[in-house]
Amino acid sequence: MNREEDLSLKESEALKEALEKISPLIEKYTGAVCPGCVKVCCAARHGRPEKEDILFFESIGYEWKSSPGADDAPCGFMGPRGCVLERWQRPFRCTWYFCEPLLAHIKSGKAREYRSLVKELGRLVGIRREFLENNGGSP
Ligand code: SF4
Ligand code: SF4
Repeated sequence: MNREEDLSLKESEALKEALEKISPLIEKYTGAVCPGCVKVCCAARHGRPEKEDILFFESIGYEWKSSPGADDAPCGFMGPRGCVLERWQRPFRCTWYFCEPLLAHIKSGKAREYRSLVKELGRLVGIRREFLENNGGSP
């Protein structure tokens, strides 16, 4: 492995770790709100990775699969208890999307937990931006 490949792998591992770290913070809220949702946002078109997601998956050696089905059909990765993929295996938009009811729930919760989520989201975005800037993607 040359120096550039080594650097790229370190950046993609940092991005994976950041996604793993933030996942329980987000799931604390989605676990409370999403089971009662009447219009679930997980359509097949949202489960399809973008160029930037693919850059990350390839750099970490993850063989991604597209969500099957028509655009508006339920995402093929939706299981009985939510998404079956690890968070880092999902398109980034799946982590970045907060619908209005979810946002309202987050904001009405404990201020300390809200601040912690905002801080980790900022950190995640920074790590992802650095990875994409150094690996040919658009942040
Ligand atoms: S994030 Fe919002 S729209 Fe998506 S499943 Fe949860 S409550 Fe529904
Ligand atoms: S969170 Fe999972 S089930 Fe929902 S759109 Fe993304 S990949 Fe599909």
